[in-house]
Amino acid sequence: MEIFKEIDSLKQRLQKLRSQSKTVGFVPTMGALHQGHMSLVEQANKDNDITVVSIFVNPTQFNNKEDLEKYPRDPDADFALLEKNSCDIVFAPSVEEMYPEPDTRVFSLGKVAEVMEGKYRPGHFNGVCQVVSKLLAIVEPDRAYFGQKDYQQIAVVKAMVRKYMPDFEGEIVSCPIKREADGLALSSRNVHLSPEQRQSALLISKTLFEAKKMSDKGASQKQIREFIKQNIATDANLCLEYVEIADSDTLLPIPGDKPKNAVICITVYDGKTRLIDNILL
Ligand code: AMP
Repeated sequence: MEIFKEIDSLKQRLQKLRSQSKTVGFVPTMGALHQGHMSLVEQANKDNDITVVSIFVNPTQFNNKEDLEKYPRDPDADFALLEKNSCDIVFAPSVEEMYPEPDTRVFSLGKVAEVMEGKYRPGHFNGVCQVVSKLLAIVEPDRAYFGQKDYQQIAVVKAMVRKYMPDFEGEIVSCPIKREADGLALSSRNVHLSPEQRQSALLISKTLFEAKKMSDKGASQKQIREFIKQNIATDANLCLEYVEIADSDTLLPIPGDKPKNAVICITVYDGKTRLIDNILL
């Protein structure tokens, strides 16, 4: 496995590989890697000759300074896990390398980036678009892999590529959520949970699984939303920030009573840790 910290040397290496007709799969991450990230690496390995993983805690997508400062970082453990999972190339740049000067670009993507996470984390998706557009331009992958754990992020990235990177020829591939055996969605932020909070967190996925059953049996959007609110409120550690039932493509509210082609997106504070999860109906 090769590790690059500089854009130019990574580009040179990738150019050489491309001249040998190797296909490149790319997995952008913020590190503190876990099996959720590894499921993306596994898919990239299957579909491509070379897998590139970036590790970069992108400051411009954090709308809260404390959140950025306490974001978990463990590069040596990350490199070891990637090596074990047959990653070929790691790109781990510094902030100065990625942003030699401030990135002032504003991405205007309409509603898809304004609802849910866009509303509760102002500026978050603009930062995501800044870093993802830079990374895609550097790596020029045949395929880039994103997890449905961050459901809205995939829709935003796709919209950004369509509008702002018309020459990008790669494919944006979305991969299913990887969960613990008990249902909790894997997340780098889970390391912040105490054993008691970890137990409370379980209620989030349990509630989503129940909600899907309700939907399968014909419950209305209102009934599902009320059920979710009440269920989350039964645990004193949990505080619901929002739950939305949205069109799985546009992420806009669904007209009518019953959810169709929908996704339920939920954000819950477990103590001070902000957890997100979702389920397709
Ligand atoms: P992050 O390091 O949190 O920015 O995540 C990097 C990529 O891994 C994103 O595309 C995430 O959606 C994806 N990812 C994170 N957790 C999971 C998970 N539990 N299952 C699938 N993909 C995930």
